[in-house]
Formats: sequence, C-alpha cells, structure tokens
Amino acid sequence: MLELDGTENKSKLGANAILGVSVAACKAGAAERCVPLSRHIADLACKEDVILPVPAFNVINGGIHAGNKLATQEFLILPTGAENFKEAMRIGTEIYHNLKDVIKEKYGQDAINVGDEGGFAPNIGENKEALDLLKDAIAKAGHTDQVVIGIDVAASQFYKEGKYDLDFKSPDDSNRFVTAEDLGNQYKSLISEYPVVSIEDPYDQEDWDSWKEFTSSVDIQVVGDDLIGSNPNLIRKGIMENACNCLLLKVNQIGTLTETIQACRLAQSNGWGVMVSHRSGDTEDTFIADLSAGLCTGQIKAGAPCRSECVAKYNQLLRIEEQLGNRAKFAGKNYRKPAPVCPTDKPPAVTTLAIFMCHLRNQR
Ligand code: PGA
Ligand code: ZN
Repeated sequence: MLELDGTENKSKLGANAILGVSVAACKAGAAERCVPLSRHIADLACKEDVILPVPAFNVINGGIHAGNKLATQEFLILPTGAENFKEAMRIGTEIYHNLKDVIKEKYGQDAINVGDEGGFAPNIGENKEALDLLKDAIAKAGHTDQVVIGIDVAASQFYKEGKYDLDFKSPDDSNRFVTAEDLGNQYKSLISEYPVVSIEDPYDQEDWDSWKEFTSSVDIQVVGDDLIGSNPNLIRKGIMENACNCLLLKVNQIGTLTETIQACRLAQSNGWGVMVSHRSGDTEDTFIADLSAGLCTGQIKAGAPCRSECVAKYNQLLRIEEQLGNRAKFAGKNYRKPAPVCPTDKPPAVTTLAIFMCHLRNQR
C-alpha cells in the first residue's frame, strides 16, 4: 500500500483507508494462522512472549478534553504493583469510584461529570489539586503501595509565543503565562511530592530545547506524543538529542501496522519505553489491546474505566489474559522495559508475511 500510494503523507489512497486495510490484513493473517491476534502481532514483531501491559487509566480530564479550568489534559493512575492485568483492572476501578466520592465530597454533586476520556473533570485549576484528589482516592481505596501516577500535559495546546498559558481556557481574555523554566520547576516539585513517574508532552512540540533540558534533569519517564507523532524520523531525532525516553504509539498517527511495528522496535531497541494509546473520541474497536500485548509495550492508555469505547479495550485485555491462562505475563513494575529486544534488524512486513502464509496454504 505504501508503494501504491507513493506519497509522504498517504494522501493518494488516504491515510484512514490505508489504516483500515492494514488492520484488516493483520486480523486476516491471525485468522489464517488460527492464532490469537496478539500472538500474530508478537510473531510479526519477533516477540517471544505476549505480555499484558499496565493499564494507565486517565481518571482526571482537563485540557481540551474537558470544560474545566485545568490546563493539563490527563492525570493517569498505573497499578504497576498489581499481580496481573485483572488485578490492575480491579485496583484502577476501585480508585476511580473512590475518586468520584472524594470529588463529590469536596466540590459537590455537579463536579462529577466526566470528560472526553471518561475521567472526572472537576473545575479545578491547579495540578496539585488534581494530585491531592488522586492521593486521597488511592488511599481511600487502600492501594497506596500498588499505584503510581502519570500525567499528560499536552502542553502544545497552551504554548503561545515562547510561553505557556496555564489559563488558556478562561472564557475572558485573562491569561497566566509561565516560562518553560517555571514549568520545569513545577514538574520537579510534583515529582518530589507525589508518586509521579511519567510525564507526557511537558512542552510544546517545537520547544525541543526545553524537552532536552527536562529529560536530562529527571529520572522519570518522559513521553513524546505531539513531539514525535509516532514518526520514525522524529523518533530518531528524539533518540539522538535525548529529548524524551518513551514513545506514545498511536496507530492512526503513523498509518500502517508495518510502520507501527517498525516505530515500536526502533524505540525499544534504543532503550525507550513504549505506551500504546487510543485517541479521544475513539471507536469501540479493540485492536490496540492486542497490539500492546503483542508488541510487549508494557503500557497502554485507553481512558478511564468508564465510557464503553474505553472499557472495550480493557475488556479485550482481560480476555487475552484469560485465554493465556497460567502462561500469561503481566508487565507490572517492568512497564518501561517488559521484554528483551530482539536482535534482528527488521521485522517482516505484514504484507510479506501474509503472502508467505497464503503460499504455505496453497502448498498444503
Ligand atoms: P488525543 O488525546 O487523542 O485527543 O490526541 C490523546 C493524547 O493526547 O494522548
Ligand atoms: Zn498526549
């Protein structure tokens, strides 16, 4: 398809059309081999094991995903201390429901509506207010030792002329500009006061200098989403310049499964973590659940345990774990590097493998 299209941005055949066919070809490949989809993807990416990822539940929504004042887009809980995916699901869900009570108690009944990814969206303005709510909910659920916290700032949304406007959603024209340095100091204070282990898009996608400065001065996971766009050229640049240390992998950003596998392997073979992600406003399709398990990414974010398009992905992961039975492996505390990286250079292109499988079938 890439050859047939021949353009840089898949504009001839259309990126959405190419992605649909690519995913369908992969599902057909699994069906032809009579293996589960996650196992088929693992084989395409030369992974020995299928590994269940740690779910990163986006339980407080802000940014452009919510109608509150909060500039930061996502506050996520990662039950890395769970024994298996099923337990991680239970822990995440129990915290989510306790969070509802904590928010209701503090901000009232009208503060518990949910945002675009199913997380609550109380009308708070400060990151620390969100983290205090989370801390209380985690403690109330009795899971303090099993859970760590991630943040997706999505800072490109509020970058204006070299500064960051923390009041960018204000209905009047007020603003609250801070410099990249101020922002970095705020992040460092969050890291020291709360169990924050992962920050995504801390700066604007063009503000590479701030990314580099931040990544070299912290020892947490720094995730590139808008910065990288799942694009191999930008992954290479990010690696060379040490701008971040984890790839946010979105299949519809890159466009085909072949390129998705290559991007994942490029990141993993250079010591980066990988987190598979849904999109806000996603469909009920569960392909990314099998993808994250098959590619052994160790982490997946698909929203809160709420709204059926989010829960659908988590349910599929429960099914994968159930199907594997006592062979199931869960990334847990190894979420940043859950599996050894295969030494071979390039995985087979998905189409090549499909043709090979057809060839074998014709010979039978
Ligand atoms: P999006 O949000 O799908 O709206 O881009 C997800 C993210 O920023 O990670
Ligand atoms: Zn993001």
